[in-house]
Amino acid sequence: MKKKIAKSAGQQPQLFTIATLGSHSALQILKGAKDEGFHTLAVVTPHNERLYKSFAFVDEVLVIDRYSDFPNYEPELNRRKVILVPHGSFVAYLSLREHKAMSTPYFGNKAVLDWEADRMRQREWLLRAGLKMPRQFTRAGEIDRPVIVKLYGAHGGRGYLFVKNADDFGVRASHLVEQQYIMQEYIIGVPVYIHYFYSPLTGKLEIMSMDRRYESNVDSLGRIPSADQEGWDLKPSYVVIGNQPISLRESLLAEAFHMGEAVVRVSREICPERGLFGAFCLETIVTPEAEFYLMEISARIVAGTNLFIDGSPYSYLNYDEPMSTGRRIAREIKNALLSNSLDLVLDQSSKLTGFEFPEIVPTGVAVSGPGVPAN
Ligand code: AMP
Ligand code: AMP
Repeated sequence: MKKKIAKSAGQQPQLFTIATLGSHSALQILKGAKDEGFHTLAVVTPHNERLYKSFAFVDEVLVIDRYSDFPNYEPELNRRKVILVPHGSFVAYLSLREHKAMSTPYFGNKAVLDWEADRMRQREWLLRAGLKMPRQFTRAGEIDRPVIVKLYGAHGGRGYLFVKNADDFGVRASHLVEQQYIMQEYIIGVPVYIHYFYSPLTGKLEIMSMDRRYESNVDSLGRIPSADQEGWDLKPSYVVIGNQPISLRESLLAEAFHMGEAVVRVSREICPERGLFGAFCLETIVTPEAEFYLMEISARIVAGTNLFIDGSPYSYLNYDEPMSTGRRIAREIKNALLSNSLDLVLDQSSKLTGFEFPEIVPTGVAVSGPGVPAN
């Protein structure tokens, strides 16, 4: 018979495995998990096996043929006392339905995925939070300014089109009829991606870090003088190639913080009761008037956080130790385990078979807040 764990003692991270798909931000997530005392598992395709095995903080790898086979491994994952930490590859390679149907313990709230995956609902969410968004056009005939045509789903900007006017749309975008897309006013400014963490245990919001993307070829067009571009049929494309760190003018930081708070607040109205928690990112363009226009929200860890595996200037303000977003996630899971509140950080679909949970009793003084190590 398994030993019951005393309520006051909480549960120990080393008894649990943090697992994720081997891509996107998996190295950051697993390094953070190891630093917080968890056992770690990378689920990889044969192509990635040697890479992930080469890192000492990856305790085990599970090799599967294709990432899309991942849901078939649910029994195996549950046997291993796994807590899944999702990232962009979950959205890119698994369907929303498959993703939601899995019952392996999962960090985050899957209810938010329905709002995030549908660009119209996403827009409603962000507008309800009082954030500024680029104008949206529903019919080509309405286009009265340059627009960007964006396909649904996280594909790293692949297939996005810059369209100058309604005629240009007819020429360049007619092949999109079969696809789901939106047309957004093109905002000229600096793309700033703000990485947040909202703790359901402490109720606190933190800005973890920020990046700007480096996209091909749009970020390279300025390297060719415009006079030399003339007569050359150059079309901007937005395929993400990498990320660069950025620190925001401090007078804009309060606005960035308020935007994060507003998004979390409204998420509780649209996905009662728990709303959005954990890591998320607001993807903005900042204009010369220093106004943030929201392009999108990602309701999980984004790959731009990979710049800050050793912490960022912002995380350093809250923590006197390297605190990546991946490690912050593991810290939250650890704090939840130690205070017997694991259910507060997992999706409700999480089937806790084989997990020995004592009854959840509110602990009064919950857990240490940002900046205070859990042990
Ligand atoms: P991957 O497993 O590399 O194909 O990543 C899955 C998805 O995450 C991609 O389709 C992109 O949308 C997104 N992604 C991956 N790497 C980055 C990055 N460095 N910056 C921004 N988005 C990324
Ligand atoms: P997204 O998939 O929404 O994160 O957008 C990917 C990239 O497309 C951004 O990093 C921008 O370079 C570009 N982009 C998206 N929306 C807009 C917009 N409304 N105006 C200008 N550029 C945009």
